[in-house]
Amino acid sequence: MQILHPFAGSVQQYAEQLANPDCYRPGHCPQCQAKHPLTAHGFYTRTLIDTAFDGVIRVRRYLCQICQRTVSLLPEFVLPYLRCSLTVIALFLIAHLLGGQRLAAAAGAASPPMPYQRGQFWIRRFRAQAEALCAALAALTQPAPAPDFVHRALTMFESTGWIASHRFLFAGMRCHLLGWPRSLAPDGRRAALSSAIAPT
Ligand SMILES: [Zn+2]
Repeated sequence: MQILHPFAGSVQQYAEQLANPDCYRPGHCPQCQAKHPLTAHGFYTRTLIDTAFDGVIRVRRYLCQICQRTVSLLPEFVLPYLRCSLTVIALFLIAHLLGGQRLAAAAGAASPPMPYQRGQFWIRRFRAQAEALCAALAALTQPAPAPDFVHRALTMFESTGWIASHRFLFAGMRCHLLGWPRSLAPDGRRAALSSAIAPT
């Protein structure tokens, strides 16, 4: 299970903080609710493309000694299962959907430039999520008048801040800004796990 590392600085600052396992060690297990601190359990690596970074970052993992499941602490500037940072995705969505830049132009102007198909994928996912995002974000900010849910959602992200919105959606509601992959819907946990813990 992934939860958020409550830290929104740069990629480099994040990497420096990782050295200390006590920094942000979860005080209880979010999966079995055991009320004791989790044990540091190494790292996994994932790729990340940010505006000034393209490489591999480490993600710290903790183990619950009671249920023997792991929890990983994802930095707030990334979205689960997506290689590009939240900032890169947000800048692209704004340029294309609010700024009216053509798909290829927005992809070419992205930092770093990227194949337009990647942006097309984000847009498709964002459109599918927009109505639900507006409803969820209404707890944080006033919905602005807008011609459709896509524009309204973007305006709400802009006024709240993308990281703050993502933190609220993910940490509070287990809602993925671009939607969970089908195998992990609706809350980002493996379906097998959900069915295993469902009451019978
Ligand atoms: Zn546990």
